[in-house]
Amino acid sequence: MDYDTYGSNAVELAIDLANADRDDPQWVQVFLDAHVEWFTDGTPLGLTAPDAGSVERTATLVRDVALADSEPEVMARLNALLDLASPKPYATAHDGDLHLHYARPDADAVEQLTTTVAMGLSQVVVQHGWQRLGVCAAEGCGHVYVDTSRNASRRYCSNTCASRSTVAAYRARQRT
Ligand SMILES: [Zn+2]
Ligand SMILES: [Zn+2]
Repeated sequence: MDYDTYGSNAVELAIDLANADRDDPQWVQVFLDAHVEWFTDGTPLGLTAPDAGSVERTATLVRDVALADSEPEVMARLNALLDLASPKPYATAHDGDLHLHYARPDADAVEQLTTTVAMGLSQVVVQHGWQRLGVCAAEGCGHVYVDTSRNASRRYCSNTCASRSTVAAYRARQRT
């Protein structure tokens, strides 16, 4: 599967956000601090409680898109997510490679994040199909993923989950 690097990175950002561990009440702040490279230099990353709530809503919507199991459902949820985005694309070469950014460089952190993940996710769905997003088949995992394999055969969020499940299936066969 071949899609542009920034677009593919933006969808990975969306997946990271959807899979963020929300047990820590400060998880939104932890997430932003771990992804500073996504924000224009100087963007204030200290969020108010309502802003953190907006990020949480975005995370839930991304997850909902990945969990949807029909095309109409994926499209409806994707459009709910896009409703929150304020795209203002611009071309840049700031890191040496020509690419598009989706959000205004002077937007606040919530707008930059929401717009980037909504556009990244949408690009993958409309270019490669709604089946490209899924939820990990490993027992007790629940992480979502984007399937970039050539034949769209992915079932697990990570190699760890894939091998854990292979071992579990092997043991289950041995017991019977
Ligand atoms: Zn960039
Ligand atoms: Zn998993």
